[in-house]
Amino acid sequence: DAYFANAIDAVLFEQKFNASDVRQKGKLGDGSFGQVNLATDVATDRELVVKSARSVQGAAQLQIAEEYMNRRVRRAPLVAQGCAKYLGSFDVVEDAASPCLVWAFEGDVTLEELIVRRDYPECVEEAIYGRERDESDDYAKRTSAVAKSVLRGLLFTLGGLHDIGIVHRDVKPANLVLMGRRFKLVDFGAAADLRVGVNYDPEQSLLDPFYSPPENFIMPERIPAPPPLRPLAATFAPLVWAAFLPDLFDSFSAGLVFLQMCVPQLRGRKVMDPNGSFRSNLEDAGYDLRKWRKKVEPLGWDFSALDVGGGLGWDLACRLVCKRNFLQRGRLGCNTALLHPFFWTP
Ligand code: ADP
Ligand code: MG
Repeated sequence: DAYFANAIDAVLFEQKFNASDVRQKGKLGDGSFGQVNLATDVATDRELVVKSARSVQGAAQLQIAEEYMNRRVRRAPLVAQGCAKYLGSFDVVEDAASPCLVWAFEGDVTLEELIVRRDYPECVEEAIYGRERDESDDYAKRTSAVAKSVLRGLLFTLGGLHDIGIVHRDVKPANLVLMGRRFKLVDFGAAADLRVGVNYDPEQSLLDPFYSPPENFIMPERIPAPPPLRPLAATFAPLVWAAFLPDLFDSFSAGLVFLQMCVPQLRGRKVMDPNGSFRSNLEDAGYDLRKWRKKVEPLGWDFSALDVGGGLGWDLACRLVCKRNFLQRGRLGCNTALLHPFFWTP
């Protein structure tokens, strides 16, 4: 049982930090429910990332849910490899409503910052291959290779998360932090564990509409609440999964991230604004990427990176960024997307 395992985990493997040893430094992020700071553990001189809950309604609850997700992830080694390394927690005051969560600090530049740089994709190439990949290749080929590598890692991590019943629901370039040679997923503040019902029925305001699929506003209401008894919930979850395929939420967001890596005109966070022209044009096209492309290509939009090698990247993008039909089919899940021929070549 996940709750039981979590409790054991907390006692045996988790580091309890000393609040007085953790010296908080600069701000890394500032959400509406939590604040993320860079910090040092003066006892060990280790660099840390610390997330503390704000004093707003519901923030403590979300912080506890995020702690739960991080413990859960840490017990799944292949998933944990693709996520920020969770270390443990501490309380600022005794009997605090929620703990401060602590991760190892392994790098602070996000994909969001990298894709808008003038030297993209070279800056990412250098990080993930340790050098520029092949200087003789043209822009389209290099962009395609970089995007493929990042997307492969992202889909692998998300697929693993879905296998253990967790949906992330906040996949976006700002939550992909470059750590060493790969991007790791951070921010489980909006994640849900559908097996045991943690964060199952969240506030709508929790979900970032910039990267959410069109069904976002229907899905949480349509999913019935899990039965109160945990053994019952465990048999209930697979049924919910089969009926609603909640993992398709993340695969849509991953598709948008992929598009942003490949199409220069889509880079930048504001582009994904639900009231902006991209999302409304997409909606007008019924979330049919091919239809949408016919509209913007004459305006000079650059799809060359997606057309590399016969357009396999484009085909995959179309299967990720699309509507799901009545039987919840039509959009690829993360694990299935990894089987797409786009990934058959490096
Ligand atoms: P928020 O709820 O504010 O979005 P996040 O968990 O996404 O909180 O953290 C905010 C920002 O802090 C991220 O976008 C990233 O830039 C940075 N960050 C978070 N966790 C880490 C980490 N483990 N290592 C480095 N940077 C991190
Ligand atoms: Mg975030």
